[in-house]
Amino acid sequence: MTNGSNGASPGLGFELAEEQKMMQQMARDFAANEIWPVAPKYDKSHEFPWPVVKKAHSLGLTVMNVPELYGGMGLSLLDEMIVSEELAWGCSGIALTITINNLAALPVIVAGNDAQKQEYLGRLVDGKLAAYCVTEPGAGSDVAAIKTSARREGSHYVLNGTKTFISGATVADWYTIFAYTNPDEPYKGMSAFIVERDTPGLSVGQPFEKLGQNASDTAELFLENVRVPVENRLGQEGQGFLVAMQVFDRSRPGVGAMAVGIARRAMEESIKYAREREAFRKPIFRHQAIGHMIADMAMQIDAARLLVWRCAWLVDQGSSNVREASIAKAFAADMGMKVCTDAVQIFGGYGYISEYPVEKLMRDIKICQIYEGTSQIQRNIIVRELFR
Ligand SMILES: Cc1cc2nc3c(=O)[nH]c(=O)nc-3n(C[C@H](O)[C@H](O)[C@H](O)COP(=O)(O)OP(=O)(O)OC[C@H]3O[C@@H](n4cnc5c(N)ncnc54)[C@H](O)[C@@H]3O)c2cc1C
Repeated sequence: MTNGSNGASPGLGFELAEEQKMMQQMARDFAANEIWPVAPKYDKSHEFPWPVVKKAHSLGLTVMNVPELYGGMGLSLLDEMIVSEELAWGCSGIALTITINNLAALPVIVAGNDAQKQEYLGRLVDGKLAAYCVTEPGAGSDVAAIKTSARREGSHYVLNGTKTFISGATVADWYTIFAYTNPDEPYKGMSAFIVERDTPGLSVGQPFEKLGQNASDTAELFLENVRVPVENRLGQEGQGFLVAMQVFDRSRPGVGAMAVGIARRAMEESIKYAREREAFRKPIFRHQAIGHMIADMAMQIDAARLLVWRCAWLVDQGSSNVREASIAKAFAADMGMKVCTDAVQIFGGYGYISEYPVEKLMRDIKICQIYEGTSQIQRNIIVRELFR
């Protein structure tokens, strides 16, 4: 947040800078014109929305966090949040396909060397996509419990294991993969790697059928004696867990922004509907029970956005945001779930019917409480930080 120009006290301001407003408007227009009209189609077909992703790429939206030095937009995390909210307002499934590079690029940005950045971030700038692979069938919340191994053999590591629930797995050109180089050392024995899609031994499963965000693909990744050159290790051996945690600090705000975008859409649809729909001879918003539900939506959405912006701004200042990112992510995701459930309630029977917009929003929002650390895990972190 930049300082306002009209006498606001220095140090805290709520007005976006001119460039931020322009970027917000650009993303808003893109969401309204390119995403929202095709959202139902991709929700039903479960196809990957390549035409939209390609248009987003032409505007730089698939490489928002790639530094300008490597050809990306080099946005601050706060700027990225402003854009991400708008994209998710259009369709969070499509938004995920556009922003998934941000997640995969993060380990390279935080731990990669110049050659790795030139090559792999450069490919994203050229229009390729990448995916981020931590979760395994037996380990999601408990990141340290992953079983994938990376055994050193001369100038290579040999990776074996299975990753699951990987967003973008079927379309990625390369993957950031976390594996144990020393399986006897929980946490400190983990390392991170860049792995090329066409490496022998790497295969990708069929996309899972899901509750929501159907435009985005989610699949398994199988690693059988996958040979990865030592140059593709990110950072030092044993730094993998630390890298994963640094990624969370920057990726959790994005899920918060996504939840705010989905919730804002649900509120806007609710306002439109509650104005038009009549019951007992008046528009339903004039029934206080409905009006108050919408007032609560506005309160909660505003609060969540401020929390998301604060935790992103902290990263931009070079400050720790562990507690604030967990607060923002859990608050925004839980808020979004409540808002979308209430939106379905406001629509009555029509809320349950796919032809109307809020049914999709309620399906889509649920994942925000699960990925990038569940709402329970965020609370664990908040408690840990408070009692440190
Ligand atoms: C659509 C989708 C996309 C995804 N994309 C990616 C991706 O791109 N890359 C990737 O690596 N992963 C991805 N994930 C994985 C996601 O991050 C995990 O599913 C999530 O972290 C939860 O892990 P889990 O499913 O193993 O659940 P578990 O960890 O088994 O948790 C099950 C339940 O137990 C609770 N729980 C677990 N531990 C605790 C605890 N200590 N205290 C309190 N409650 C606890 C959880 O909150 C949850 O309610 C994706 C998942 C989905 C569904």
